[in-house]
Order: sequence, then structure tokens, then C-alpha cells
Amino acid sequence: ALPAAGTAVRTTCAYCGVGCGVLATPDGQGGLAIAGDPDHPASFGRLCVKGSALGETVRLDGRLLAPRINGRDTGWDAALDLVARRFSDTIAAHGPDSVAFYVSGQLLTEDYYVANKLIKGFIGSANIDTNSRLCMASSVAGHRRAFGTDTVPGLYEDMEEADLVVLVGSNLAWCHPVLFQRLAAAKEARPQMRIIVVDPRRTATCDIADLHLALAPGSDAVLFNRLLVEIARRDALDAGFLEHVNGFDAAYQAACASDPDQLGLSEADLGRFLNLWIGSEKVVTVYSQGINQSDSGSDKVNAILNCHLATGRIGRPGMGPFSVTGQPNAMGGREVGGLANMLACHLDIENPMHRDAVQGFWAAPTMAPKPGLKAVDLFRAVEEGRIKALWIMCTNPAVSMPEADRVARAIAGCDFVVVSDMMAETDTTRLAHVLLPATGWGEKDGTVTNSERRISRQRRTMPPAGQARDDWRIIAEVGRRMGWRDAFTWQSAAEVFAEHAALSGVAGDLGSDFDISAYSAITETDYAALDPFLWPQSARKNGGRFFADGRFHTPDGKARMIAVTPRAPQSVTPDHPFRLNTGRVRDHWHTMTRTGLSPRLARHMAEPYLELHPADARRLGLQPASLAEVESPHGRAILRVLVTDRVAEGHPFAPIHWTGETAPSGRVDVLVPGLVDPVSGQPASKSAPVAVRPF
Ligand code: SF4
Repeated sequence: ALPAAGTAVRTTCAYCGVGCGVLATPDGQGGLAIAGDPDHPASFGRLCVKGSALGETVRLDGRLLAPRINGRDTGWDAALDLVARRFSDTIAAHGPDSVAFYVSGQLLTEDYYVANKLIKGFIGSANIDTNSRLCMASSVAGHRRAFGTDTVPGLYEDMEEADLVVLVGSNLAWCHPVLFQRLAAAKEARPQMRIIVVDPRRTATCDIADLHLALAPGSDAVLFNRLLVEIARRDALDAGFLEHVNGFDAAYQAACASDPDQLGLSEADLGRFLNLWIGSEKVVTVYSQGINQSDSGSDKVNAILNCHLATGRIGRPGMGPFSVTGQPNAMGGREVGGLANMLACHLDIENPMHRDAVQGFWAAPTMAPKPGLKAVDLFRAVEEGRIKALWIMCTNPAVSMPEADRVARAIAGCDFVVVSDMMAETDTTRLAHVLLPATGWGEKDGTVTNSERRISRQRRTMPPAGQARDDWRIIAEVGRRMGWRDAFTWQSAAEVFAEHAALSGVAGDLGSDFDISAYSAITETDYAALDPFLWPQSARKNGGRFFADGRFHTPDGKARMIAVTPRAPQSVTPDHPFRLNTGRVRDHWHTMTRTGLSPRLARHMAEPYLELHPADARRLGLQPASLAEVESPHGRAILRVLVTDRVAEGHPFAPIHWTGETAPSGRVDVLVPGLVDPVSGQPASKSAPVAVRPF
């Protein structure tokens, strides 16, 4: 039942991985009043400007209100029958790996779970990847190499308790604003706390920093290798904790071979960083896309983890490495195995015992026998005609993928494309044969998991727009029509959650640390009332932290330090002499399908722009507010010039949000190469060699 007008509903923000609690109150006229939930343990009543504008974005403008086949409105039965038939026919003719799903960290865990179950357990392919691949795949890979599992060890409160917080490649002020507010409040309360920002660009996060290290782009692993060497030289290793760690010698030797001159830092700044890091017992190293979005992102993650393992600064209050995820449910996607190289509940798709256990639990006719295609490779397979039926859910890859023009052409050339989305007109929906209207935030029930592993409810507060349906219901309907009636029978999101929780118990028996099996018999009433909680329940004995006891999820129970040989990013060339950095602005989200509806949010940054150093602007003859053409071997964009010394000479910055039907436009990901990290498959979105010239 929908809440009565004036009744506040506890739910969770639709945007970033902080996962703030929201009180949404229907006004009785189709709108929602929004306030922070004072009882939510991630945000304590705080909201940022995006979260507080959620009520301005729950409008019908631009919504996809009915299923469409080749541009014509149709009924659900016709659309679902067609999707099921085309996928079944394609699989029959070309095999399970001729189809693929491309999904999203915006999906709720229940949606993600059902999509994974259908393709991995019933279709028999692991060709399901997600836009989270563009966001945190290198953190997943780094965690798994070091800890044996994809586990974020700490909690948000560790940042507040730390004596030193180092933010690496993270513009927390704009990308995780409420976490930034918590950090700023902690520093105000304890002025002796120190904050260091490591970022080639001077961002808003530097406003509260004691030290900004504007290191050379891509040199993060050199910095943390240098730190490891200095930790050892100053006898600051934790010999007791190193009993629980393998690989120190190799990691140390590799670190010794790094050349700190590559950092481009002064001796004084580097020395201050080393002194503060080594001299502060309680250190939290926060890292985000500046680390992950690199063709050596996994190594950068492990260079950071190495330093925490070598000093035993992990799993205890006020210390630890901390990956902050971009999307509201990137973590939930990881929990259900929402990446091509994972199984549900953090099980390993390459482990036959794990595959058998999941197949048995699902009573599935088959199980994907190997990892599937990761995002960049998946769209290459679409381009080459190896993927013949593609279902894109809740994301806009024709804008957000690297080499976005190429990806758009690949989708346009695919035999059969289904897109489930809230919005009717996006760069990707225009390329679909079948459009399926999906419910959006405020219209659906489910759960999300934030960056500190806290599972929170999103709750339904308003009716679906038009004929929109929940993603998990749409996927389940297709599964039933493909012939698996008994496996996709849920009647509610609570039932899906209960099955997911029960599977986590099976996974727990196999050593997975993701165990929420206490919720496997959850009732509708309890699901409706579910309070935010941390997983796993067993970690509560350590105050919610992992690894305090020095036990890791590797076969011998020891963590692994990884030998990291830093690699420079792709070189610039005489034809493309600038290294473009990409990122977000404070008030927009992804490709703006929701935040673009709020005039208040649009006022912050009204159009696509390029931050350019004054010396570069002078040399190129570009005036402030003029237009620049930015070109790479992969595409062109036209951007408004913002002359600023926040960026270094030769290293302009552009935000990713803007879209556009016709080239050239403000679509920045058309410029980004499809280069990926060899371990994680995450693209190097922070480093695109480009040319810049007046337009
Ligand atoms: Fe939403 Fe993130 Fe802002 Fe919190 S910080 S209100 S989760 S966008």
C-alpha cells in the first residue's frame, strides 16, 4: 500500500555510494517533500544538494510510460513475448554466449539478483556486466588479491576517528558530499586531525586539507611504493601483524625499484606526507575513481593496501584502506555477483564447487562455466556481431562507456537490442528495438548497499509512472516466458531478498564473508520495517570491522602483499599533446536523466566545460568562456572553456554528464580510449590523450 499524504517514509537516496537516509513525504498531489533521516546511521539527517532535490525530479517529464516495439507503444505481453522469443531463438541458434545483459549500479539488489540468476543459472552465460565496471572494478580486484575476498574492511566512523585521513583520487566534497560533511565536522571538532588530498587537480576537497599533493597524473603507485620503502627504513613495520601477511619481500623489492622523481613533488611535500602517514597510528586512506579509473588501477589499489598491511593498520577503529564507491548500489551488485567475473554472494565463478553450490541452490539447468565479457570487451563483441541479442538495463552506455561513439555504433548494429529504462529519450534508448518502461526511485521497493557495507531499504512512496514495472519483475517475466516458470515465481521484492539471503548462507558455508542468512525467512512485515544494517552480522563483534584478528579469506588465512611495478599512463603524442582528466560535478549525476530535471541543480554548472590552465589557454588563444574543440583518436566534443589554475598545465579536466544526439556535443566519454586494467577490466577514464583547439 502507498503511504497516505503527509506520512514520512524512510528510504535511501538514489545517487552516490554514501547511501544517505531520506524521509520522503507524499504531498497528496504527486509530489514528495524531502528531508534527511536523522536516524540513518550513515548520514544522521544530512543530505547534500542532490539528495535534497530528489523531490524536484520525481516528475513525469520525459518518462517512458508504455512498452514500445520499434518506436510504437504496445502492451506488456507483446513486448515480453518478443524479448523472450528473440533471446531463446538466438541462444538456440548461436549458443548462450551470443546474448548479454549490461546492467547498472543504480539497480536495486533484488533487480540485480534476478538478472544474475537468469543469465548465469538459466541461460548459462556470464555475459552480464555493469556500469560498476567503470567505477570500482579495480578495487574489487585489489581486495580479492590482498584479502582473498572483495571486502571493504572499515566503516565511515573510522574517518572521523582517524588522526590522519589521506584522500587519493577522491573529490569527496563533490562526489560523496555527506561523507565529506562528516569528515569536515570531525576535523572541526578535533583540529589536530590532519587531512591530505592526493590529486593532480586542486578540487573543492582541498578546502579542508592540511596538505595537497598535486602529484603527476597516474603516479599514485609510485607514491605508495615510496611510502612502503620509508615505512621499512624507519622500522615502522608491524612485525606481529606481518605474521598474518604473505608477500612482503617481493612487494618491498618492487617498491625499492620505483623512482620517486616520477611523482613531480617537492622533497618538502613528499617528506611531510611520509612523516604524517608513518607518524600517525590511526590512518585511513580513502581512494576512489582517481585510483580505479586507470589501466593500472588494481596495482594502485594494492600499493595502498600494502602499506596498511605492512603496518597492521587495518580492521581497527580509526584506521584502514577505504574504497568509496560511486554508485548507490555498486556494492549490492557485487553482493549478488553482478560482474561478469563473479558469482552470487561473493563466490568465485572459476571455482567448480562454488558453481555447483549456486546451481544446486537455484535448481538451475546449467551454470555459466567461465567468466563472461567485461564491459569494454562486451561492447566489442557486440560490434563484431558475436553478441546478437543485448539487454541494457538502467544505464546509458552510448554516453558513459569509453569510446562512446564506437559503442553507440555497435549497439545500433546489433541484431536485437532491449533497453529497460525510466526515460523515453536517451542516447541509448534511441538505439533499441524494444523499450521496457521501468519504475524509478520512489516507485519501487528494494535494498541498496553503501560503501561501508550497510544495507538500507529504498521504499515505494508513489505509484509507478504509466505502465512502468520494477526491473526484477520484468526480468522474471522474461525468465518465465523463456520456459523457467518455477524458478522466477516471486511475488514481492521481499521474497527476492529472502532468497538472496538464503543463498548467502550456502556461500557462508563455503567461506564467503557475505552472509546475511539471518534474513532468509524474512516476512513481508519485517522487510517493510527493515532498519539499515551492516553485513556480515558476525563482524559486529569487531565493531563492524573485518580483519582485526589477522585472519583473511585466502586458502592459508593470510593476506597477500602484491609486488607493484608502477606503469605510467598512456603517453600523449604530438597530435594529442594534452592529458584529459574526467570526473563529476557536484550537482549532477551520471548522464543527468534525473538531476537534469531540477533547475536548481542545473544552475551550478549550466553546460559542458573544460578546465584549462591559463598558460595552455594563452598558448591556444582560448579566451575564458569561449568554445574549445577537444579531439582524440576516438571522437570530438565541444566544451566551454573555464580558465583556472586548479588544473596543471597540459592536464585539462572535463565533467562526464552531458549528452547529445548529434556529434560534436558535450559527450566527454567519446574521447576516452577503451584501454583497460588487465586485472580488473576497468577502463582508464582518467587519462585520455587529446588535442584542444578553438572551435
Ligand atoms: Fe545522496 Fe550521496 Fe548526497 Fe547522500 S551524499 S544525499 S547519498 S548524493
